[in-house]
Amino acid sequence: MKMDRRTFLEISIGGSLGAGAGITFSPLPWKITDDLSIWTQNWPWTPVPAEGEVSHADSVCNLCPGGCGITVRKVEDRVTKIEGREGYPVNDGGICILGAAGLQLLYGPWRVPSPLRRAGKRGSGQWEQISWEDAIGEVVKKLAELRGNGKAHTVACILGSDRGTVPHLFARFLKAYGSPNFIRSASSGDTYELALGLMQGATASVAYDLEQASFILSFGSGLIEGWGSPVRVIRAHSMWRSGNMKERATVVQIEPRLSNTAAKADNWYSVNPGTEAALALGLAHVIIKESLYDSNFIRNHTFGFDDWGDFTGKTYTGFKRLVLTEYSPDVVSEITGLSRSKIVGLARAFAKAKRPLAVWGRGKGTTSGSLYECMAVHALNALTGNVNKPGGVSTLPPQLTEGWPEVYQDAAACSGCSMPRMDGAGTDRYPFTRCLPDRWPQMVNDKKNGTIQALLVHDADPYYTTLDSAAVAKAFASIPFVVSFSTYMDETAHHADLILPNHHYLERLEDVPTPIGLQKPILGLLKPVVSPQFDTRHTGDVIMTIAKELGGTVADAFSWEDYETLLKETVGDNWDTLEEAGYIEKTDYTPPAWENAFDTPSRKFEFYITALDQAGMKIGKDLDYLPHYEPVRAEGDPATYPLTLIPAELMRLASGAIGSPPFCTKSLEETELKGNDLFVEINPKTAADHGLTEAQPATLETPKGKAKVLVHLFEGIMPGVIAIPKGLGHAAYDDYLAGKGVNANSLMGVVEDPISGLCATWGIRAKLSPVGGHGHLG
Ligand code: SF4
Repeated sequence: MKMDRRTFLEISIGGSLGAGAGITFSPLPWKITDDLSIWTQNWPWTPVPAEGEVSHADSVCNLCPGGCGITVRKVEDRVTKIEGREGYPVNDGGICILGAAGLQLLYGPWRVPSPLRRAGKRGSGQWEQISWEDAIGEVVKKLAELRGNGKAHTVACILGSDRGTVPHLFARFLKAYGSPNFIRSASSGDTYELALGLMQGATASVAYDLEQASFILSFGSGLIEGWGSPVRVIRAHSMWRSGNMKERATVVQIEPRLSNTAAKADNWYSVNPGTEAALALGLAHVIIKESLYDSNFIRNHTFGFDDWGDFTGKTYTGFKRLVLTEYSPDVVSEITGLSRSKIVGLARAFAKAKRPLAVWGRGKGTTSGSLYECMAVHALNALTGNVNKPGGVSTLPPQLTEGWPEVYQDAAACSGCSMPRMDGAGTDRYPFTRCLPDRWPQMVNDKKNGTIQALLVHDADPYYTTLDSAAVAKAFASIPFVVSFSTYMDETAHHADLILPNHHYLERLEDVPTPIGLQKPILGLLKPVVSPQFDTRHTGDVIMTIAKELGGTVADAFSWEDYETLLKETVGDNWDTLEEAGYIEKTDYTPPAWENAFDTPSRKFEFYITALDQAGMKIGKDLDYLPHYEPVRAEGDPATYPLTLIPAELMRLASGAIGSPPFCTKSLEETELKGNDLFVEINPKTAADHGLTEAQPATLETPKGKAKVLVHLFEGIMPGVIAIPKGLGHAAYDDYLAGKGVNANSLMGVVEDPISGLCATWGIRAKLSPVGGHGHLG
């Protein structure tokens, strides 16, 4: 067998998972590290540590929401290696390729070395270095002016997340200052939070007991690619694969493309993209028809399973009637393209498993997704009664910041906060949604809800990650004052007016809340393990300084001396333990028993969502209140665009706000990225129909944009569907990343979910036209 790079990676991953050894013992990261350290040794910025005292320090990685414990090896004050921390509850010594490459992010040329003020046209890359006093002074002057003119509400903040003390500082700042416009980047957590709120009445994030589940039915979740807390999920995957055939868990992957997760699953079922909700309901049909559901849970702890009547005598359709009437295996087979026998067999296998678990959130979970699809998948967990049980799905309450003093709002703050949000979240149209991260560019461009006069961006790169890049660029161009707090020269920083760079995550103190999907609450601590390399400052301190300089009630909301004091006070009596151990885990946490678990109007798990009516959302027919399949149409006319383009998230490529360091980019195959040219995957049969051959240059066009690509024939993608990876096509950072491939977000548009308003896009119509010849694109 020819042992090329891809073969090696597949064997490494498969061998490691199959042996139950986990990524810790996989040779993958170390082989890649070794190769790349050789390939990259001549780069001028590659650190060559001097001789000196060797030491190790523990901290936490925050390059993704995974929250892995890390151990940093140092020579004097120089970091030489980052490893997974042994015994850390999330990852127990494991680390992903991005985490291992954190070193390159620390010393790489894309660091912003000091506060910078734009010196040329926006995006020209011309900057002048300024002092911190001047940088903060400019922000304060602008914000004071807007507030003084009754325009406090025109200030917006976009953050990577709303969890942890720093995001809460921004939210607090806006509340005291007078703006409702706090926005966090999109993730599947947005939709899951809504589904849990509507079906369970929970203000919580979702938690999966992956380690104890015996049958994992994944609706497109990239369990190996980096879904949830990536290293934790890969460890769980190893556990599913360990033991003999009787004990090991069954993994079934539903998606139109053979991802790494699909390749390592027991069964991969390719369905027409966007029809996952129909499949979930088809499975529910079989489970209900054959009485394979948990009758105790359904009878005693759910509402809306059967038809029901209100006090006026009016009857309403229940979930059971809906799925038995509308989602027979024959109908669902027609919609999804999966055979009747596979649907029936899968439903039986799932329902009869000891601890079945249906997992939702496509790819790495970096998009919000369809609410009804999420609810349909969650309904499967309810049918099997696998809620708040070992091996099941549960909820984790929000963490921290309780105990912060109330914010006193003066007249300007009250007036500003009473204005409509710039993205339309929380209005009568979308009463349940806290923010709409993909909607704001269009709202700004349409001048709905007014304009944004100042935008502050922290721990996010909306210029790169938001769908429909052209609309995003137009929206940015209309905002007179953009401030980035980025550590790196990312796309948003590149298009800002001022950059006030945060410390790198190895240089600062910060809390790291429980990673998404984990079933036990854990608080991790990011520690400064190395001195700041540049003239950077902790963003928490900078926000407090801005508030203090604004004065009045805005300053009063920040009585802490500095961020470190705030963090210690927030953690309270647990600070010493947190500082010493580097984390606190509530190992005794158990989700509430069914009797007390559901805070819905019916006090039960709701298949029929009564909260919609209670919020005044009269949305029409019974169907709208039940999990159902509502096709989210891919944008574009099929006659013009005969193919469907979907994004693919790869385990070796960062696809969120952090750009991939060279370690990651260099690990790509020559059939994924060759030089700067990106490959589009297409089924050989579809390629033949369109006259396309391997490595042929082609033009990929969608209603949102156009790109030059090379064709890669791939048996593992459904006919009619094509895919490009997410995480390439950066225009900023540096020569090692900029200009490589195409930003998938630039070819995708936003399709709004009818209930949440969140982005439910899963793909877009596309066409692929040959431009002649083979090989490199000119
Ligand atoms: S999974 Fe995320 S948190 Fe863990 S090492 Fe990788 S990038 Fe860091």
